[in-house]
Amino acid sequence: MDVQAAPAYLLRAGEGKKLYFGGAEISVIASPEQTNELLEVVEIFASGTFYFPAHFHQHTHKGIYVLSGEVLLSFKNKTYHLRKGDYGHIPRGVTHILRTVEPNTRLLCLTGPGGVVSLFTQLALNQAFQKEPLYEVSDKVDFQLVDEYEPARHVQEVENMDRPNGTKPYVIRNGGGEHFIVEDQLFSFLARQNNTDGQFLVLMTDGPKGKAIIEHYHKRHTECFYCLEGSMTMWNEGQAVALNPRDFLHIPAHTKHTYRLDSPNTRFIGFLAPGLFEPFFDALGTPYYSHVVPTKPGPARFDRVLKNYDKLDLYFVSPPPDGSMNAVQAAVVSFSFWLSGKLTAKK
Ligand code: FE
Repeated sequence: MDVQAAPAYLLRAGEGKKLYFGGAEISVIASPEQTNELLEVVEIFASGTFYFPAHFHQHTHKGIYVLSGEVLLSFKNKTYHLRKGDYGHIPRGVTHILRTVEPNTRLLCLTGPGGVVSLFTQLALNQAFQKEPLYEVSDKVDFQLVDEYEPARHVQEVENMDRPNGTKPYVIRNGGGEHFIVEDQLFSFLARQNNTDGQFLVLMTDGPKGKAIIEHYHKRHTECFYCLEGSMTMWNEGQAVALNPRDFLHIPAHTKHTYRLDSPNTRFIGFLAPGLFEPFFDALGTPYYSHVVPTKPGPARFDRVLKNYDKLDLYFVSPPPDGSMNAVQAAVVSFSFWLSGKLTAKK
């Protein structure tokens, strides 16, 4: 089924509706209304200590990415110390606690619908009106406070570099994840469909200054791009948008887009919801052993993309808008256009 289109939108660093709760400033990056009820994303900024008590979400999975500062994340019988670039993953039903331990800590937090934006909207109101109990929320919010949970006192540093399979909680150290190379770019899955029951994918992209990819659109999933380092250009319906660290662009279904990395060390994190586009990355990429961006470009398996084109939520539009493309690439693209023309009726 096609995802109905909500308009694309851009948020520059620090923009987004502000909510205040527990001493933290919460910026709404993506609300359910803005993402056709597919995704909720907030940026949490705590200049002092921010403590969020034991709770779980019944339906939604949750990803936490540390933008700066340090935070303790407790789940099951573990407490981990997350620093800049570390990722924490909490599946539905798993009780967890979050506590910042460094001034000026900034986190990106994403969930499915009924998650973080819905929760903080309600909690900010509760706090403003001094409502008791403070953590009481409506049934529409996917949130359950837990009374009896003792977090592990022993704090562990994040050392794990691998993405485990399955809906269990985990942490991944900065630079970790499941790596793939596509030419000179390194893609790293921090969460795949099997970690989120298909709700979303979390994908890191690292690379040098390069060329734009083929302009394309999707019909059944939405894509969120958040620039972490360096600079990049995105084209949204043909309009170039420069993204610098902490700039965010939401590209909903049916929106033509492409991107190009513009600085020597550019990094962006992508949230794709639902996670059905995962096979594209398996087709295009080649598994890679290291978290270091390759100095020698690897393959881009367009042959496998084209072979699976009719099954992928991918619709090619035109060659890269910056005019950069060698003869081989141009031939591949011409072939893919021929193919996409042939397959425009694909469902
Ligand atoms: Fe895309």
